[in-house]
Amino acid sequence: MSISTLQDYEKFIEIFPNLYRATFNLQFGPLNWPVSIFLINIEPSNNVWILIDTADPDNISKLFTALSQHFSKFPNYQLKYILLTHDHFDHTGSISRLLDEYEDIKLVLGEPESFLTNNKNVNGKIHTQQLATVEGKITVDKDRIVMIKRGKEEEFEFFNVLKPIFIADSNLGSISYLHIPTNCIMVGDSLMNLSTSQCSKPVITLPFTSTNSHLNSVKESIKNISRLEDVKIVFPAHDHSQNGLSINDVRAFADTLKK
Ligand SMILES: [Zn+2]
Repeated sequence: MSISTLQDYEKFIEIFPNLYRATFNLQFGPLNWPVSIFLINIEPSNNVWILIDTADPDNISKLFTALSQHFSKFPNYQLKYILLTHDHFDHTGSISRLLDEYEDIKLVLGEPESFLTNNKNVNGKIHTQQLATVEGKITVDKDRIVMIKRGKEEEFEFFNVLKPIFIADSNLGSISYLHIPTNCIMVGDSLMNLSTSQCSKPVITLPFTSTNSHLNSVKESIKNISRLEDVKIVFPAHDHSQNGLSINDVRAFADTLKK
């Protein structure tokens, strides 16, 4: 399936009530991959929104076009948080520009903080933190970072609507978000759906072994996802289908990994 034929190609589509997805074309060497980001209308009565992931650096202007087209239908909206599933370049590409353009927006990250390095000023006081990505480092003011800690997930402001769940071990540094009203979970790269011949089946693909994560952590992630309750649909960040994966398909796949 060609990425450009996806209904949400380069624009936000409401895939479930108050849950929107846009998919961009990620050029990965000779390959073209889908990379999806999500917008949640987290407080519809107050027009408050959350963005999950920011796609790759080559798609910055397309992402901003998609955002402005989308929000033209929601005047006086507030985009309050950028949530990161993990720190790879293809999910963090627009962070700097988003932080510039939205003065009040905050960046939400999951523990571990290993990819954050402190940047000290001349007086020895820590005033910024740097988010290290594959592309390099992004400097972020410390007061614009919200760190979700293991065991203290409920401290996240919108925990009751969008629940942070640590899926992967520290190696993948990955946090997933369960949208409670729709039972949809956004899992970043904990799971991918890149099989062009079998779009409905989850697959373990090359990038897991070519990035800083290991195949065993990926298998563990998939098993962890399969054990979650209150999940109906799993949305990977790299997904050749519009509709995500049913939790039953993920569970069936997880069963094959146990052998
Ligand atoms: Zn990725």
